Amino acid sequence: MRTLEAKVVFLGSEGVGKTSIINRYLKTSADKEDSTPTIGALTFTKKFDIREKQVEIIFHIWDTAGQERFKAIAPMYYRNANAAIIVFDLSDYKSFTETQSWVRELYRNVQEPMVITLVGNKLDLIQERQVTIDEAVIYSSSIGANYFETSVKNDQGLSQIFMSICHQIIRLA
Ligand code: GDP
Ligand code: MG
Repeated sequence: MRTLEAKVVFLGSEGVGKTSIINRYLKTSADKEDSTPTIGALTFTKKFDIREKQVEIIFHIWDTAGQERFKAIAPMYYRNANAAIIVFDLSDYKSFTETQSWVRELYRNVQEPMVITLVGNKLDLIQERQVTIDEAVIYSSSIGANYFETSVKNDQGLSQIFMSICHQIIRLA
């Protein structure tokens, strides 16, 4: 079995659901939680079946500890990241607009080729939805990102994000 490692950084405005996505995916889908004492990062292992072959990815997931409120995330957060997941809240248009500054921030800090995934979270809040799928898709392709919609509440779409990252990490490896 092939084993790859990936540092994945979560970005996006406060309250969009970054921590919730990580915790939910870890609890429901990780094969093994590896406790490495890395500050700010959470490490777990997940096996994927890609074209009848098993690939194991050791994910190092970086979550903010509220620094996004001050737009002051230290450069070490971005250093050597292989993938970025930029999250916004589908029921909060401002959080969608703000993803633009997270993309800029990302490119200021990272030079290597990167897997970028845009995630519209809180899909369950259908009545309050403010961002259309069309504008989200157009925007994500303009920044070279894949786009997914998720609901942590209904456990929707989370595994697709990590599956897609797995495919792209393999391509870059
Ligand atoms: P973060 O600041 O981006 O890490 O956001 P959190 O993970 O702390 O979530 C902020 C709030 O949004 C919390 O009250 C969560 O319970 C809520 N939340 C997260 N994901 C969802 C979702 O998919 N649907 C709904 N309705 N609420 C969510
Ligand atoms: Mg958080």
